[in-house]
Amino acid sequence: MKLEVQNLVKSYGNFQALNGITFSVERGQILGLLGRNGAGKTTTIKSIMGIIEPDSGDILFDKKPLTRDSVSIGYLPEERGLYMNTRVKDQLVYFGMLNGLSKAEALQEIKQLLEQFEILQYLNKKVKTLSKGNKQKIQLISAILHRPQIAILDEPFSGLDPVNIELFKNTVLDLKKNGTTILFSSHRMEDVEEMCDRIVMLNKGNIVENDTVSGLIEKYSKKNTILLQVNQDITPFLHNKNLKLQSEHNLIFEIQYEKKEDLTVLYQELLQQNIQLIKVEEPKCSLQSIFIKELSDHES
Ligand code: ATP
Repeated sequence: MKLEVQNLVKSYGNFQALNGITFSVERGQILGLLGRNGAGKTTTIKSIMGIIEPDSGDILFDKKPLTRDSVSIGYLPEERGLYMNTRVKDQLVYFGMLNGLSKAEALQEIKQLLEQFEILQYLNKKVKTLSKGNKQKIQLISAILHRPQIAILDEPFSGLDPVNIELFKNTVLDLKKNGTTILFSSHRMEDVEEMCDRIVMLNKGNIVENDTVSGLIEKYSKKNTILLQVNQDITPFLHNKNLKLQSEHNLIFEIQYEKKEDLTVLYQELLQQNIQLIKVEEPKCSLQSIFIKELSDHES
């Protein structure tokens, strides 16, 4: 079941925050919604959640207009919101029942998730007595307790230690495996690269990239370029082979080639000269560098 956002427009007074954006997320897919501060991510998420009303455009799930009554959504907002003076158990039962679970069903899920997050001992404690990271676990549990069809996670890993980040990632991947459609917004590019199937990059309310993670990396990576790590200088062997030295650092040579055969000839020659090829790899750019390249020259 697909989540579709079509021609979404939203203005705040005279300022147009979304200029008619269109994208979709398939069932069991994780879509990373990226952009600089103020690009329009929260406005998009709040429109999907029905928290704000867009000026125009459609939001569909399974080809029908998305409503909170017809589709179950789990939302982890960027501004976390828990009742500090309420016990963990009561709070989670309340969220579970709000999302259609019976008390018994909610309690069963809660105990299982608290155990999975290694915080079952806090079941009867007030939320305010928990650490920041543990409060965040309660917030995530409240978002996924009812096994939603759509999960919207805004900066889910902020403020977590590395062990808890792994725990959160595994939980998100479990949701994906169970067919949840997931929208994920984060400024931590390495997490996005690891977790997401597709990326939508927003800039000032417009989509500037909408592609798979691998497609995007392929698109931005240098073409016909190879990195060779060797044990001595190889510049004398690059002449007359249609090979162009782009850069060299610590005997790692970045070489541009026209045909793969030119490289084969080079490798043979290096072998004959007893020059050791320590590493051969194609330079791939990271999502972090794509983000900076695509968005840094635009003011936020
Ligand atoms: P961040 O990464 O900082 O959370 P974002 O991509 O989520 O940013 P939005 O919160 O969607 O960005 O904001 C998009 C634009 O709309 C910004 O220029 C913001 O100042 C403006 N905006 C958001 N909410 C309102 C509002 N209630 N009233 C007026 N302008 C708003």
